[in-house]
Amino acid sequence: MADLDVAVVGAGFAGIYAVHAFRSAGFTVRAFEAGSGIGGTWFWNRYPGARCDVESKDYSYSFSPELEQDWSWTERYPAQPEVLRYLNHVADRFRLWPDIQLNTRVTAASWDADRSQWTVTTGDGERRTARFLLSAVGCLSAYQVPSVPGLETFAGPWYHTSRWPADGVDFTGRRVGLIGTGSTGIQIAPEIAAVAEQLYVFQRTANFAVPNRNRAIDPDWERAFKTDYRSYRKQAQESFLGVPIAGTGRPALAEPPAEIQRTLMDRWQAGGGMPFLGAYTDVLVDRAANDLVAEFMRDRIRETVADPALGQLLSPRAYPVGAKRLCQSDDYFAMFNQPNVTLVDIRSAPVQSVSPTGLRTADAFYEVDALVFATGFDAISGALRQIDVRGAGGVPLTEKWAAGPRSYLGLAPAGFPNMFIVTGPGSPSVFSNMVLSIEQHVEWIRDCLVHATSHGVSTVEAKPSAEDAWMAHVTEVAYATVFPLADSWYVGANIPGKPRVFTPYLGGVGPYRARCDAVAAAGYEGFALD
Ligand code: NAP
Repeated sequence: MADLDVAVVGAGFAGIYAVHAFRSAGFTVRAFEAGSGIGGTWFWNRYPGARCDVESKDYSYSFSPELEQDWSWTERYPAQPEVLRYLNHVADRFRLWPDIQLNTRVTAASWDADRSQWTVTTGDGERRTARFLLSAVGCLSAYQVPSVPGLETFAGPWYHTSRWPADGVDFTGRRVGLIGTGSTGIQIAPEIAAVAEQLYVFQRTANFAVPNRNRAIDPDWERAFKTDYRSYRKQAQESFLGVPIAGTGRPALAEPPAEIQRTLMDRWQAGGGMPFLGAYTDVLVDRAANDLVAEFMRDRIRETVADPALGQLLSPRAYPVGAKRLCQSDDYFAMFNQPNVTLVDIRSAPVQSVSPTGLRTADAFYEVDALVFATGFDAISGALRQIDVRGAGGVPLTEKWAAGPRSYLGLAPAGFPNMFIVTGPGSPSVFSNMVLSIEQHVEWIRDCLVHATSHGVSTVEAKPSAEDAWMAHVTEVAYATVFPLADSWYVGANIPGKPRVFTPYLGGVGPYRARCDAVAAAGYEGFALD
């Protein structure tokens, strides 16, 4: 008899909800969390400026109408401390703490076919057995620091944004080098520039960013909005991105140029990436339509940045807009008008080395007191690959994923009985409102476990043929879009040697949910139930 029904790895949005959902269904459950607190990505990414790019009314749990009514967000886009407070409130409110084990890193998990159970091993050597293994490790938790020769000789402090010191860092009067200009770099740069003597932004690829137009939540608006939160959530579940977006419903290529400008400008003024990119139906599938939107965005950069040469350098041209995650910022481009900010183009003159006093590129040396790496993550599969997961026959997950991560429906990897992944490879995951996708996955898996238990089924395993067919579908959908044209973390291009495979499912959150529901209704079609 296993110690637990369900062992959950991670206590971020997914792990927290999993504890509540499985426990409420009568299962014994324990979440093992490496951090000293809950929150996952919102626990670790406490760098200045960290803020969600999905609106708080969407980026919140929907499973409890009472929670939804009682909790009040202060801002349209919540900052990291507020998201963390929210998650701790959820853990308090639903009394989840007894089933969450902090400061505990899962190092290995192996399938025991004789007993039909998993053995989970933690960093301090503890072993627990569980009927089911649930990965809730998140898509963006394995951070990466590029190997720069000489970094170990640097005399000053250096940081990765995803492991920011809890006490904060004071850059007042310091010379700071920032490497990385993705969503994170774009958020932290203005915060550093506000206090530093000098900020050098080392840019390899210029990125697109739309304004947030962040603002305080108006209590009257909140009251009115909450009168019909339930039907709003339903719309979100059936939507494409997990957020109800009103697009024009028309292709940009069929629209008069002046009308495109007007539509895009309205959305630019309103702020937010999803309504902006979702304005027209063809932007993410037709390069010519995409170029129209990209040019509109480059115009906004050029009119914001005073120095024309700098404006050009900051104008993205290397990939279609949206094919890398669209950044959001109200002040990133304007920051370059400050005298203490310097943009360094490391595409034309790459970083060569770090010395005790600074950073050398192919054509100059930059003296800095501190270095900040906002260089991203080994996304989607990285965190699971760091755990020695072994399925049927002792096959390591790393071996199964040698040519790229894969699973049936983004939920279950074939060859790994009784193992489920929340927002795994092949699900909408990072291409959706994560909280909504997490809830959908946890509830689907919970229902599957209830079904298995009530039917005397001891193992649930995705069939290889079902996984192959699903991943072929995921690939087919992706290659009908502009996404594969970018060297993004979506395809693993940011990690040297990682196979280039596009794994998020782009078929839409609503259709995906319908497919998962149909699989369950057909007696878990594509799964072997023994
Ligand atoms: P990222 O998007 O992968 O950006 C990493 C940055 O570091 C890029 O500019 C990249 O340049 C650069 N870089 C990586 N390796 C480098 C190297 N060896 N030398 C020089 N530059 C290097 O990572 P991120 O900004 O942390 O964001 C990851 C994801 O987290 C986002 O896409 C988003 O989904 C999520 N996120 C969300 C929010 C939000 O909700 N607002 C905030 C932060 C993060 P290249 O582009 O040339 O590779």
